[in-house]
Amino acid sequence: MVVGGDAAGMSAASQARRLKGPDELEIVAFERGRFTSYSACGIPYWVGGEVTDRDRLVARTPEQHRARDIDVRLRTEVTELDLDRGRVRTRDAESGTESWTGYDRLVLATGARPVRPPLPGIDAPGVHGVQTLDDGQALLDRLDGAPGRRAVVVGAGYIGVEMAEALLRRGYEVTVLNRGEQPMATLDPDMGRLVRAAMDGMGITTVGGAEVTEVLTGPGGDVRAVVAGGTEYPADVVVLGLGVEPETTLARAAGLPLGTYGGLLTDLAMRVRGREEVWAGGDCVEVLDLVSGRERHVPLGTHANKHGQVIGANVAGGYGTFPGVVGTAVSKVCSLEIARTGLRERDARAVGLRYVTVTAESTSRAGYYPGAAPMTVKMIAERRTGRLLGTQIVGREGAGKRVDIAAVALTAGMTVEQVAALDLGYAPPFSPVWDPVQVAARKAVAAVREAG
Ligand SMILES: Cc1cc2nc3c(=O)[nH]c(=O)nc-3n(C[C@H](O)[C@H](O)[C@H](O)COP(=O)(O)OP(=O)(O)OC[C@H]3O[C@@H](n4cnc5c(N)ncnc54)[C@H](O)[C@@H]3O)c2cc1C
Repeated sequence: MVVGGDAAGMSAASQARRLKGPDELEIVAFERGRFTSYSACGIPYWVGGEVTDRDRLVARTPEQHRARDIDVRLRTEVTELDLDRGRVRTRDAESGTESWTGYDRLVLATGARPVRPPLPGIDAPGVHGVQTLDDGQALLDRLDGAPGRRAVVVGAGYIGVEMAEALLRRGYEVTVLNRGEQPMATLDPDMGRLVRAAMDGMGITTVGGAEVTEVLTGPGGDVRAVVAGGTEYPADVVVLGLGVEPETTLARAAGLPLGTYGGLLTDLAMRVRGREEVWAGGDCVEVLDLVSGRERHVPLGTHANKHGQVIGANVAGGYGTFPGVVGTAVSKVCSLEIARTGLRERDARAVGLRYVTVTAESTSRAGYYPGAAPMTVKMIAERRTGRLLGTQIVGREGAGKRVDIAAVALTAGMTVEQVAALDLGYAPPFSPVWDPVQVAARKAVAAVREAG
């Protein structure tokens, strides 16, 4: 039995079905929404108009799952887990009918819920989240594209900056309000500053240190402005991008083990600690950070899909493990690509690591080759050992996915010296003769030596 019909849940169901036929394993999946296996990651590009067909964001429809003997039950919310008796209580959203259904093995894939502070006016029409396809549709229905329209995005994490681009594309004047001084708190502030400068250059107003206190409404009750730091920012539409927290309400009520961030705790096989018959994956769990050695909540689709694969294999009697993450993420705002992996400076300090940092300027292609675009790479390396601890990249086309070099190096526990010596591909249209990541690695080698 699967609770939650998106990335983690349906990957688990699909993988289990691949390994065991319907005669051997019955699979039931409960989903409270109207879609299965949808890409929330695509919402900013759909709202922005780059992706025009919503159905393309659905990787597998309920009918496609059912055709593979996965019994998907939509608009059905699981409201209680009875672990002692191996059953869950469900409520049908249409009829309100409640019933109990038994299971032998349970997969919790309930995802995350967006942070929505209880501020005055926050539920006014015109204030939107972007967590589900229904949210995306509601926002699109609101965007009338009339000239002079203003949008306020609250929060400047990756969803906030991606939505800022989407609204800009729709012709809105966009202001991004952020509690921190710089956007993209997943970067160090010096790299966040580059993002802010680039966004300002694109015509997106970014306001740092702006703690939102109230949403003001007009005579009809719709949103009219957002108040932050005593200033009113006029808005015809507001998008919330304040991050997410694990959706573990059911798990908490059932007494399952939760970590510091409120996510479920599992072993490497994604089995909930202390329970033989319960697995969990995706945004509702905490994962091991391979660089810091601590548990973290890293709500990303890339992990949810992998968790699902592992769970599906294990539930079906096979074997799989999820070793952990190094914290790799890429995003973009207009032509600016933003990437990070590993530890930021503050993360390294928090676990007592001593480190050096370097920042290198380079280009995406050989300097003389048409289209070469500037790129800044920051690298963090451990003192003495020279072990790579983290990498952040901000630049134009060709910058973001370079972070994968560092992600592999981090996973392998490589030193910056080893990164600088990697045999990477080179030709002028693809990179300078020293790849920008290796330019940073060389600087880091020198910095480690100097620091002693
Ligand atoms: C706008 C946006 C952009 C994103 N971009 C990226 C990106 O570029 N890269 C990336 O890696 N990740 C991205 N993500 C994150 C990614 O979408 C999530 O990490 C991923 O969807 C998590 O999958 P999941 O299955 O764990 O949870 P979810 O996708 O949240 O699915 C959980 C499902 O469980 C259902 N559910 C919850 N509780 C119950 C219940 N009690 N009963 C029945 N059903 C229930 C929910 O309705 C939901 O459908 C983005 C997210 C958003 C919102």
